[in-house]
Amino acid sequence: MTIQAQIEVLESLAAIDAELKGLSDALSQEREALEGKKSHLAELDARLARGEKSIEEMERTRNDLHAELRQMSSQIEKSREKLTRCRTEREANAVQRELEELRKLYRDREIEIEKLDVLIDQARGEVQQVSSERQTLAGELGAIEGDVTSRLGDAEKQLAEKTSQRNGLIGKIQPGLYRRYELVRKRRGTALAWTHDGTCSACHMRLQPMLFQRLTRGDEFGQCPSCNRILYFRRDVPEGADRADAAGTQSSGP
Ligand SMILES: [Zn+2]
Repeated sequence: MTIQAQIEVLESLAAIDAELKGLSDALSQEREALEGKKSHLAELDARLARGEKSIEEMERTRNDLHAELRQMSSQIEKSREKLTRCRTEREANAVQRELEELRKLYRDREIEIEKLDVLIDQARGEVQQVSSERQTLAGELGAIEGDVTSRLGDAEKQLAEKTSQRNGLIGKIQPGLYRRYELVRKRRGTALAWTHDGTCSACHMRLQPMLFQRLTRGDEFGQCPSCNRILYFRRDVPEGADRADAAGTQSSGP
């Protein structure tokens, strides 16, 4: 296989890799956005469940306190009756103390109930707020999920097609050259660069004259000493690319 043929295959591979990178970046962005909304929704659901559970618990406690109050007021009633039946002052004083003690306990519970009323109202307000936030988010998700899912499906199909095209190309490249290509691509994002006037098209470093001379003979690949990309010589600058910008070998994705 001539070096020219190898260059053509490598250029096609570099173009496919640029497309693949763009596709997989877009895919992961879409996925992340969707997953972000879904996990926010799950978080809101958890907060709602916690809020409702705590309201339930507080209401149960409040019911217990009300039951105690009813019991106490009948005890107070009984003590009052007892007071009317007292014959001695000593007896009456004892019942009076009992009554005071009961009334104090009664008031304590009333205060507890008032505090619970406030807390339950607060918790209900929070639950309502979270619930309306959840409703908005669920609406948004419902509106976009179908679109996003179908876009994801399309992109995955394209990704699979490009990957199989890529696999076809790999078979045409010398294994050693492909290993070098992959090694640099994994580190740099792109692995192929060219030179026309003695500078690297990817990193723009000026090459040593000896290396440039060797490359101009056009019978071997070189390696940029600065960015390690695979280098070859081009007689003309490709259309649409100025010297500082090699087609298909830009380091940034589309
Ligand atoms: Zn370079």
